[in-house]
Amino acid sequence: MANRFFNHIPLINLSGIGSNLEKKFHTLGIDSIQDLLFHFPLRYEDRTSSCSIGDVTIGEYTTIEGCIIKTEVILKRKQMLVCHIQDESGIAILRFMNFNAGIKASLAQGKWVSAYGEIKSGKNYPEIIHPQYKIKANREDNALVEEGQERYTPIYSTTYGLTQNVIRKLIQSALLLLKRNPPAEILPSQLARLFLPALDSLNIIHNPPIDTDINQLVTGEHRAIKRFIFEELLAYHLSMLLLKIDNQRQQAYAMRVNQKFIKPFLASLPFTPTNAQQRVVRDIYKDMAKPVPMMRLIQGDVGSGKTLVAALAALNAIENNQQVVLMAPTEILAEQHYNNFKQWFEPLGIKVDWLSGRLTTKNKKLRYEGVQSGDITMLIGTHAVFVDKVEFATLGLVIIDEQHRFGVNQRLTLWEKGIKESMHPHQLIMTATPIPRTLAMTVYADLDVSVIDELPPGRTPVTTVVIPNSRREEIIEKVNQACLSARQVYWVCTLVEESETLDAQAAEMLVEELRERLPNLSIALIHGKMKSDEKQLVMQNFKAGNTQLLVATTVIEVGVDVPNASLMIIENAERLGLAQLHQLRGRVGRGSAVSHCVLMYQAPLSKVAQARMRVMRESNDGFVIAQKDLEIRGSGEILGTRQMGVANFKIVDLIRDQYLISEVQETSDYLQQNYPQVAQQLIACWLPDRQKYINA
Ligand code: ADP
Ligand code: MG
Repeated sequence: MANRFFNHIPLINLSGIGSNLEKKFHTLGIDSIQDLLFHFPLRYEDRTSSCSIGDVTIGEYTTIEGCIIKTEVILKRKQMLVCHIQDESGIAILRFMNFNAGIKASLAQGKWVSAYGEIKSGKNYPEIIHPQYKIKANREDNALVEEGQERYTPIYSTTYGLTQNVIRKLIQSALLLLKRNPPAEILPSQLARLFLPALDSLNIIHNPPIDTDINQLVTGEHRAIKRFIFEELLAYHLSMLLLKIDNQRQQAYAMRVNQKFIKPFLASLPFTPTNAQQRVVRDIYKDMAKPVPMMRLIQGDVGSGKTLVAALAALNAIENNQQVVLMAPTEILAEQHYNNFKQWFEPLGIKVDWLSGRLTTKNKKLRYEGVQSGDITMLIGTHAVFVDKVEFATLGLVIIDEQHRFGVNQRLTLWEKGIKESMHPHQLIMTATPIPRTLAMTVYADLDVSVIDELPPGRTPVTTVVIPNSRREEIIEKVNQACLSARQVYWVCTLVEESETLDAQAAEMLVEELRERLPNLSIALIHGKMKSDEKQLVMQNFKAGNTQLLVATTVIEVGVDVPNASLMIIENAERLGLAQLHQLRGRVGRGSAVSHCVLMYQAPLSKVAQARMRVMRESNDGFVIAQKDLEIRGSGEILGTRQMGVANFKIVDLIRDQYLISEVQETSDYLQQNYPQVAQQLIACWLPDRQKYINA
């Protein structure tokens, strides 16, 4: 039953797929026959009716028809075949760069032809390069479609070397297979009634008859697609719900606050926790006092002081003779946490150490031993803290910082790892990415949530300006002035590609330029390709105030805290999303000085980029920005899943489909209570990877 769409059958078992194609599909995330069946079209094209030549739109895929008036081979650098066709409204050209005698002969003068492709603007006439074409028996013959078979043509997302035709053909054979082994209905009848049967739905999605409301298919409102959206959301929600229930059945150390460390720690701080921090810490202590594992998410905007909350949670575990591990998404951030916690905890006699994948084998081994013997009480690091070799003597608390950088499955793996002698560690998860409530209900359905809704006192909002690249000179001068008046500056260099190597190169060039232009400043560079100890040194120097200007890639995006830095320049800001811009800007405005952020852009700005820049200028509030982000993206756009720490949905688009969430929530409670086996089947079908975490 779990296999109703063949989710355990590898793609290679489908006839027509060899290892070459298999690899290409793999890059699209398609490994099983089910993955292929749920590779839904991006859009659809109507190739059944043609457009008069006089009415074509440049750039659109269109079918045109006409009578061939001239076909000739011309020589431009290379031979090409040019065919002129004509209807009542005008003339168009079909152009072939590669052709043979057969093609040339088929396009004989006086014949009627039907051609499909993207309309380009030619010198004198619109043209299609390498159209799909068919010679018609006569003018009336509907050449591109078979009689009675009028359907929209699906267009799929693809990868290099994989053509639409190949994808279409294979999906058709997967559908045929499904037809021979029709999928069982797993939803209880009162629910199933609301939807079309799965097979019919898939047939409509991949081969919509010409009378289908295509727009509804794309917006996810069509009956055919709704079943799958609903099922996938249900499965996701149920898996979270079951995890939560399962978690409630586990045992954890009940921890009593005894103030042994907490009191002297608070006394050593130069400030007192804000009300919001205190409230959140109270939530945490209440959870930790229970003999079941805490699973709490702390949402707090950038700069709201989540690190202090983590420290207070850690001290509670340590007072109860338990070890603590804190994981951060980047080395720079892990390093910074290490420095903070060392400074805070070592005076109390607590041993703090850190671990990163880049340490030498010998140094790693030392850490492993220290953790295993219990000598190291608090371990801080990147995901290296969770490799198999790290075994804790008695792990009581797992803290994950900037959770949105890790996927849900990673979080679950960590959880599984903490298990020792049937005792589970408590879990504290921190994120700066605020998401609207309805979305949080799904994304964090397994977690209890606390919000730090207050910034530490004395902060002045960052003033943001938006300036085109053409005024670079002015900006360089601004940087100079800021440094001369003892302020520190970040200059963030970004590229389009998600490549830390290219980013690093661009940052290296920029630093050279700036050093030449501003010879009196001390300028340093940091990027993700540098060695750990180099990065460490650069950050220490910046933090100590020895470096005035830090040129960086987006590696500094999360968590970095240097309160004296009060000016941030972000280059090519138009290329970044709102969440990322807000995170980056959050690096300034952390001290009492008035801070500024300059968003530099390359003109012209697209409409979306303009809207984003406006939001950044007008707001400093992460929740407002997140809400605007959703509005600007609009429905139908793919959500930045990585940024939200959401598992990759196959079909669901959380933004587009969020209106279904409360219904899904109700239904999953109902299924879990009345049809537990259906719940399991749904999870098995949609989230096979997650089954192993769920024993409920
Ligand atoms: P984030 O929530 O972004 O992780 P941090 O924990 O890095 O924020 O804190 C940002 C800055 O605010 C740090 O310099 C920290 O020392 C300071 N801070 C935290 N809590 C308070 C407080 N209650 N009063 C004053 N400053 C605080
Ligand atoms: Mg932080």
